[in-house]
Amino acid sequence: MPRKPKLGQNFLRDQNAIQRISASIGDLSGQTVIEIGPGEGAITRSLAERAVHVIAIELDRELAPQLRAQFSAEKVTVVEQDVLHFDFAAASAAAGHRLPIVGNLPYYITSPILLKLAASHAALDRAILMVQREVADRIVAAPGSRDYGLLSVTVQMYGPVTPLFTLPPGAFSPPPDVHSTVFRWRFAPRFTELGVEHDPFLRFVRQAFAQKRKTLSNNLRAAKYDTALTYATFAATGIPAQARAEELPIETLAAIHLHLEKERAASSDEAAQSS
Ligand code: SAM
Repeated sequence: MPRKPKLGQNFLRDQNAIQRISASIGDLSGQTVIEIGPGEGAITRSLAERAVHVIAIELDRELAPQLRAQFSAEKVTVVEQDVLHFDFAAASAAAGHRLPIVGNLPYYITSPILLKLAASHAALDRAILMVQREVADRIVAAPGSRDYGLLSVTVQMYGPVTPLFTLPPGAFSPPPDVHSTVFRWRFAPRFTELGVEHDPFLRFVRQAFAQKRKTLSNNLRAAKYDTALTYATFAATGIPAQARAEELPIETLAAIHLHLEKERAASSDEAAQSS
């Protein structure tokens, strides 16, 4: 069957890599595992040998029936659907546990899939995902490194990430133009621990990283934060005036955000009392 490059169809052929991906998800005994984009079933087969049940989410309407013909319905449920519309919470409730996820992702929608998984974190336990190497570098980057930015902070707020191994284009058919990296993501959100709320903190992070070469104070000024308040916050949290968001660990970004929000709330209270 002709491949559909638009659907990111680069099928994994390296048997060693297939076994390593399947092993990296850990013990699957007694569990349902979700596979995103099973394709021709290369990884699905190994998962089916190790889990009680596999839910394989495949958008391609020609591949889905082929997969159904390949595996018994008791072992593998093939869901012909866009993964971005899949209800992970319902699947987790039906399985009776938080779900392990495996996927050699279609690269054209990597970020939307990561955001979908982040939004579904309560239903998820851990994921082993393959993405383009440069994207994995950004996901796992530490503060101060070239690749650290909005994607690193957003993903890492939902739990620790670990790079596992990288594959060359020749491991796939047809070979993609890029190298691919497999990484582990354990879902353990940090919002409560850091005392921040999801939406306001992630909005602040987007503003903080809005322009890569700008200082944090310039990015916050562009987002309409009061400059005096920003510098007072830097002084209170021990941040140099010229700091850039790319240098700051998540804990520091959270401390700055909390301080800014506290001072903003205090000054709007004052304004309300004096009016
Ligand atoms: N897992 C297989 C492998 O490793 O050989 C195939 C991986 S291939 C990189 C990505 C797969 O995701 C393709 O089978 C493609 O049809 C499927 N896909 C693309 N977009 C999708 C979407 N929105 N939802 C679910 N599956 C999708």
